[in-house]
Amino acid sequence: MRIKFLGGARTVTGSLFLYNNRFLIEAGLFQGHREEAEQINRNPPIDLSQISAILLTHAHLDHSGNIPNLIKKGYQGPIYATQATIEITSLLLRDAAHIFEQDIAYLNKKLRKKGLPEKEPLYTIDDVERSLQHFEPIPYHHPFQIGDETITFFDAGHILGSAQIRLEGPKGSILFSGDLGRRGMPFLRDPELGIKTEVLVLESTYGGRNHEELTTVKEKLIQLINKINRRKSRLLIPAFAVERTQDLIYLLHELEDEIPPVPIYVDSPLAQNVTRIFKSHVELYDREAKELIQNNDDPLGFGHLHYIRDVEESKWLNDREGPLIIISASGMCEGGRILHHLKRSLTNPDDIVLFVGFQARNTLGRRLIDGVKEVKVFGEEYPVRCEIVRIDGLSSHADQNDLITYVKSIPELKRIFLIHGEEEEMETLAEKLKSSFTGQIDLPQLGEEFQF
Ligand SMILES: [Zn+2]
Repeated sequence: MRIKFLGGARTVTGSLFLYNNRFLIEAGLFQGHREEAEQINRNPPIDLSQISAILLTHAHLDHSGNIPNLIKKGYQGPIYATQATIEITSLLLRDAAHIFEQDIAYLNKKLRKKGLPEKEPLYTIDDVERSLQHFEPIPYHHPFQIGDETITFFDAGHILGSAQIRLEGPKGSILFSGDLGRRGMPFLRDPELGIKTEVLVLESTYGGRNHEELTTVKEKLIQLINKINRRKSRLLIPAFAVERTQDLIYLLHELEDEIPPVPIYVDSPLAQNVTRIFKSHVELYDREAKELIQNNDDPLGFGHLHYIRDVEESKWLNDREGPLIIISASGMCEGGRILHHLKRSLTNPDDIVLFVGFQARNTLGRRLIDGVKEVKVFGEEYPVRCEIVRIDGLSSHADQNDLITYVKSIPELKRIFLIHGEEEEMETLAEKLKSSFTGQIDLPQLGEEFQF
């Protein structure tokens, strides 16, 4: 067995693993400082002519976002993923290409003025459309064969369609956890435990800590909604368009009898498109969500929930008085319609901005939760007078306890590679795992290769 860690090693983005010199697991975007990210994303160090297949665990761009670039660079083989992953990936890749094209157009205008050579986007919508023709859907629990490897997809419970992928060959078995979800999250079945494998490549995003319970999250939501109802103000929730937005809607639906009937607006065309995919894959829901659907109680479409599509409608919403709830993207306030709503709410002491997702360094979201007193939106300074609140318990990643339970459940496991985590999280997790796991644990460096 041979495995090379080309991305997602001692960091959370850019997942890219080369197995036995012929399988690529993931082809994610590296996200970080602009120039460094561009350098890494543009030049993946792989001989694409040797690759028989790309196996994709789920739609998130840090796992899927560099696929169109590999196609552009000459990869001609199949890309295997679940049907829901293919559908969500299509939306996210088109959205990413659109942003790349816009950014480059803006940058090229500046470069032209300076008489400098123009740049090309990482990939275009056309590259995305060509990539989509390479995707082939794979159901969970249906082993298939490539050469002498048998490949099986298992439920990962992280986002809709997410999978763990196992390869079994003459030299042994290896399981890629992908991103693992948590027990009891809205919509999704719990991550599958006890999958037999000798080698495990395990994500460790939250290897160093444990999340708040969902019951605490619900209590906090109720308090916040009561507050804006009393104040007749606005609750603004920046949220990722995939899974986080739908999870929030699900929780608000669940709390319907415990909160005042404040109108809820989902102002993100991407989130609305993803929601449509959720609605068409009821077969992937867990028992609770399926029961709601059977009782004609749609957790993604109820009384005072409204989806906003047009720009005009979004502007109308921006002028509307509270009490109201707005869920909008992007989740880290780096772009999208949330910025227009922020412009209005930041200066209003009665409004609340609620963060429910991870906020990376150097983002507007991070500055706000760090308590900065003045921030720039669309180039203009705004004093921060509104209330800023953060809820951590909605993460779609397994926490430390979940990861330990997961490892304990695997029979005959011999070796673990920890990936997809910051160094500190990985080291803490490795220490914890050592108390129950006696095999070898490695924390691969970027570019490191193992043969065994
Ligand atoms: Zn993910």
